[in-house]
Amino acid sequence: MTGHFVDGRRVDGTSTRRGDVFDPATGRRTGQVALACAADVATAVRAAGRAARSWRDASLAKRTAVLFAFRELVNARRDRLAEVITAEHGKVLADAAGEVQRGLEVIEYACGIPSALRGGFSENVSTEVDSYSLRQPLGVVAVISPFNFPVMVPLWFVPVAVACGNAVVLKPSEKDPGAALLLAEWFAEAGLPDGVLNVVNGDAEAVEALLDHPDVRAVSFVGSTPVARHVHQRGTAAGKRVQALGGAKNHMVVLPDADLDLAADAAVNAGFGSAGERCMAISALVAVEPVADALVARIAERMARLRTGDGRRGCDMGPLVTAAHAARVRGYVEAGVAAGAVPVVDGRNVAPDGDPAGFWLGPTLFDRVTPDMSIYTDEIFGPVLGVLRVGSYDEAVDLVNANPYGNGTAIFTNDGGAARRYQHEVEVGMVGINVPIPVPMAYYSFGGWKASLFGDLHAHGADGVAFFTRGKVVTSRWLDPRHGGVNLGFPTQT
Ligand code: NAD
Repeated sequence: MTGHFVDGRRVDGTSTRRGDVFDPATGRRTGQVALACAADVATAVRAAGRAARSWRDASLAKRTAVLFAFRELVNARRDRLAEVITAEHGKVLADAAGEVQRGLEVIEYACGIPSALRGGFSENVSTEVDSYSLRQPLGVVAVISPFNFPVMVPLWFVPVAVACGNAVVLKPSEKDPGAALLLAEWFAEAGLPDGVLNVVNGDAEAVEALLDHPDVRAVSFVGSTPVARHVHQRGTAAGKRVQALGGAKNHMVVLPDADLDLAADAAVNAGFGSAGERCMAISALVAVEPVADALVARIAERMARLRTGDGRRGCDMGPLVTAAHAARVRGYVEAGVAAGAVPVVDGRNVAPDGDPAGFWLGPTLFDRVTPDMSIYTDEIFGPVLGVLRVGSYDEAVDLVNANPYGNGTAIFTNDGGAARRYQHEVEVGMVGINVPIPVPMAYYSFGGWKASLFGDLHAHGADGVAFFTRGKVVTSRWLDPRHGGVNLGFPTQT
């Protein structure tokens, strides 16, 4: 059974509730995971609280030494992590390796924490008075992650939080809990003191316990929009700092002047990579006429060559994460057909290269999707790409901006002026120009707008450092007798 990692060691906890963990490519239950109760969460928070008191005083040199060592361990064992991801999530091995790489980049960013934490200093702000700024850790922080990036999303937050001097309680998704425990063990092996990183496995009960615990100062959450909204509301009502990243409906706009072969490649990669289970997946393709017919034909042609199957067999696309999720996505395909969208490629007919009991659905392409259909209004989170036809650039921008989500978007065009207008006008947090999945590098910050993020600060980069620290400004004067005298006036500069 997969348990927890608290105060430097694996523990089972006191709760007797369990969740099932599956291999999505075979449909078989491969293990169970402990589902923590409030008492298990409290034990982890207590361990983190003790560790935070000394870790905040660890020198920057000590912290960066641990981070560099952790980076080396993850880098050396990246294949092992990818195998665990594929076994529990189902994404193909090459994609899992890509996820590990993006996580590594955040560890590397956190290795540079001494630069990111540098404050300012002003000499003589008043006569013989100096002012300087500090950034200090918050204490115990919680990280709650979704199933679709069991390594990358924890690594968006944990290295930065730890580098800033906090102690962390990480609550991974109960669907694929294995990788987080490895990360915690390897961090300990790299020299991180006991209790600075704890992993508590569980479901909503553990999340509520973290939100209610008075010693948890901040919560970084990633998941679906309804849960993100709830986590933000409940966490902030309890006085915590919260960044809650939610769901998405990402549009790719193709203008008439675009190279349609490159746009079709991009749509297939971004629509069906990781079986569409990416918060930055493209799920709505906005074709500005007259390109739709030609674009749809090119995409369908490429889809015919995709191999869906077991991620360990060199296939292009793996299964969905659970039987329930596969059934839900299949339900959307049925709803799309019933609503009158044209199923150009129907993934329900896929012949997978894998165990027939796996959670399969092949890549699906709908043409003539309209904004009122549920396959457009809802986040499907599966390999379903819908084409919406519009008459002009303005119609395309209006469509994207009317959508409640604002995570990522892309525009494909060779017209620099149009691209520049789009980046300026579109109400979305991450924009790609001829880049279908514009995930920012670790030294920029990741986050969407509108219903895709609740809170103010995005993940990693400068926002991450700001989120995991509090600012303090010191005004200092070294006294001598000349500074004496009583004056009740408000201090002014002299
Ligand atoms: P989810 O919302 O079901 O679960 C996310 C986390 O919340 C998990 O740890 C889960 O145990 C917990 N949880 C689930 N239900 C809860 C509840 N009722 N109360 C409290 N906690 C609860 O999301 P998921 O299915 O694991 O992940 C997919 C979703 O995450 C998609 O909507 C996707 O767009 C989103 N996502 C967003 C980003 C982003 O950066 N914006 C990145 C990755 C995934």
